[in-house]
Amino acid sequence: MFLKGKTALVTGSTSGIGLAIAKAFAAEGAAVMINGFGDADAIEKERAALTEASGAGALYDGADMTDPAAIRAMVARCHAELGGPDVVVNNAGIQFVLPVADFPEEKWDAILAINLSSAFHVMKAAIPLMRERKWGRILSTASAHSLVASPNKAAYVAAKHGIAGLTKTVALEVATDGITANCISPGYVWTPLVENQIPDTMKARGMTREQVMNDVLLAAQPTKQFVTPEQVAAFAVFLCRDEAAQITGANLSMDGGWTAA
Ligand code: NAD
Repeated sequence: MFLKGKTALVTGSTSGIGLAIAKAFAAEGAAVMINGFGDADAIEKERAALTEASGAGALYDGADMTDPAAIRAMVARCHAELGGPDVVVNNAGIQFVLPVADFPEEKWDAILAINLSSAFHVMKAAIPLMRERKWGRILSTASAHSLVASPNKAAYVAAKHGIAGLTKTVALEVATDGITANCISPGYVWTPLVENQIPDTMKARGMTREQVMNDVLLAAQPTKQFVTPEQVAAFAVFLCRDEAAQITGANLSMDGGWTAA
């Protein structure tokens, strides 16, 4: 339980990768603030389970990652009610799939706000609090799409390349403060985000569900296997350890070999 006494804030943690990361931090004793959308009863169940697993507090904050004031308030509430945050994970993300010529402006704005700008607002609010304690871990769930592109994902690819650059910059700014900043860049992870883009890709490419899974999604992944949320979470936990103190400014791939090709 090496995170006992520490507090982690994970954005977009009512589902998928973020929820797996919150559970893994709680299993190491961290108090956890979860965030995201979803059914209130289901979220309360997850929150209660996190408290039980960690023996520390767990809170839910419904801040919308498109709203900078709500993000600032969430970080301040975490500090006031749980302490820290000692670890922040910029994980909230959405996807939308169409060629640029047909891409709706409001989807572009939403993806840039949720997948990129929210991380800036979290970091801006959390870094001074981490500096006070001379320890911090800033993690962002980027993507293989922070390194390479795919057609029809302009906003997502732009936001993920952006978060890799933001992370490098912040890592340099906090390098002597005991704080590290890194991206974890998964390939395809089997979560609702991936499942939900299958119908749009079927439409955009005129494919069946099986064709999208095998010829589009796993086509890029040489291992021909999805990454699991638990594998990403275990990597996030490792990056919080003292052994990872010299890993900073890195964009760490976890993509079954996708970006090696
Ligand atoms: P998911 O859809 O299961 O979870 C997304 C989370 O973000 C949910 O908790 C959702 O409620 C939250 N969210 C969405 N909009 C929000 C908003 N406006 N404000 C607050 N919360 C909001 O997706 P996931 O696959 O677990 O994705 C998590 C992260 O991992 C994303 O940044 C995604 O880009 C990244 N990622 C996913 C994959 C993959 O294959 N699933 C691969 C690489 C990177």
